[in-house]
Amino acid sequence: MTNSCGPREYADTVFVNGIVYTMDEGSPTATAIAVKGNRFLMVGTDEAVMKHAGDDTRIVDLEGKTVLPGLTESHIHFGYVGVNILTAPLDVYWLPVDEMLERIRMAAERAAPGEWIVARGYNDAIWDEPAHRRLLDRASPNNPVSLRRYCGHATFVNTRALEIAGITRTTPDPDAGTIVRDAGGNATGVLVSAAGALVNRHIPPPPRLTEQEMMEAYKLGSDAMLANGITTVHDATGTTPEDTRRRKKAYEEGYLRVRIMDAVLFETAMEMDGPLTGLYEDHYTVRWVKEFVDGSLGGRGAAMIEPYDDMPSETGALRALGQDEDEYARRVALMLEKGFGTRTHSIGDRGNRITLNAFEKAMEMTGIKGDEARLVVEHAQVLHPDDIPRFGKSGIIASMQGVHATEDMVFVEERIGNERAKGSYAWRSILDNGGIISGGSDYGVSPYEPFFGMHAFVTRQDRQNNPPGGWLPEQKLTREEALKAYTVWPAFLEFSEHLKGRVKEGMLADFIVIDRDYFNIPAEEIHEIQVLRTVLGGETVFER
Ligand SMILES: [Zn+2]
Repeated sequence: MTNSCGPREYADTVFVNGIVYTMDEGSPTATAIAVKGNRFLMVGTDEAVMKHAGDDTRIVDLEGKTVLPGLTESHIHFGYVGVNILTAPLDVYWLPVDEMLERIRMAAERAAPGEWIVARGYNDAIWDEPAHRRLLDRASPNNPVSLRRYCGHATFVNTRALEIAGITRTTPDPDAGTIVRDAGGNATGVLVSAAGALVNRHIPPPPRLTEQEMMEAYKLGSDAMLANGITTVHDATGTTPEDTRRRKKAYEEGYLRVRIMDAVLFETAMEMDGPLTGLYEDHYTVRWVKEFVDGSLGGRGAAMIEPYDDMPSETGALRALGQDEDEYARRVALMLEKGFGTRTHSIGDRGNRITLNAFEKAMEMTGIKGDEARLVVEHAQVLHPDDIPRFGKSGIIASMQGVHATEDMVFVEERIGNERAKGSYAWRSILDNGGIISGGSDYGVSPYEPFFGMHAFVTRQDRQNNPPGGWLPEQKLTREEALKAYTVWPAFLEFSEHLKGRVKEGMLADFIVIDRDYFNIPAEEIHEIQVLRTVLGGETVFER
């Protein structure tokens, strides 16, 4: 073989015979990848890439499988992932009622006398029968059961749990809560909002994890991400200095592999000298502040310009941050000057408007604008039509969760009416007005599987592919846009567009091999895609 350009660089590994969607506009498809160290050495045809195969190069046949860039989950509460795997709380997320009861029955069989059976994620809206404690009594006649609805705003318990809490026919409803009762006046076992606490305060708290268990939990969480093709997470929790210390230790001791982009609370950022960026070879960055301007739509805490349709006395709960727009803007400006971006939880149209106002003012005050600031609205769930163009115009990024739309669609129109629903989860409108969307799940709240999110982005359907044609289908994204929301756009959000989001020479070698062709299968199957291999920084860190 000849090489006219001096000594050839040999790859550590060459992957050939794939369908590579690079997300690199210049050359969108390829069949082969050469990796050296933690970077892509070359991306191209099998023939061209094989020229980088030397005697010590490992050659991997991709067998015609599809390759995508490593995925970024841009709104997760990462700490819960591993802790939930380690402590294995019962998970009944959106299960059909029979399956859910079977899991509870098995848990009751294993449980010690008097031990609580606690789970979260049930959704009675998909059952054919209403939630009633007699269902749970059949599965667990002796052990108390408490299930939290997936939305977090209702609790479903059995008779034993009601007895322990002392809830009888005569127990009054608490403030801001309802004990749902049947025609005869007896509690059905469904406890709405604050009524759940009447039972849940009797559940003993789970034991605190030791430092070593926390490390194990990080490993489990990191492995779960990699098994789902997620190579970077943006943690939206508002992490503490203690979390930062523990994460550094976990990277140093090999418990963490996934790349983490952390947001801290304002007070923590104030105490830091500046952001931490690119630690451990671009694995760990702390350069955002997490703020909250309002609550959730499910709990009618989202701050709305006009009252809720299903509760005309209520316009939601604006948090302290939103009460004084100038003070809010000063906080954001102060952080920008310190090198921190702000990511604000904003759900209602009023909450979103206040955040956009504060962000624009902060950029005005500092002269750090648009692409230099990259400020982020978390959720951007209900937007007034006048505010939609402001994302593109001011360079403000919308961090949005596909699955939230397809979970919330069952109640949104009832809660805020048809007109306002049109500005909800309005992905298409944001893009058409020059904005970008960073995709995520908000796990703890919704499942983190990225292909669930992309399926929702593309179809506006739940994972039973309902409703036919999709909910408010004019807001659907194309497959390419949905994939950008998990690759190039979050890379831009985190100032890493030169390093991540694409399969491209010189970038970090983060990519995944999946079991079917994302761009050519029916859209209704996108959520069924399985990850076969995850490569992070050139190393295979997951293989099925
Ligand atoms: Zn969240």
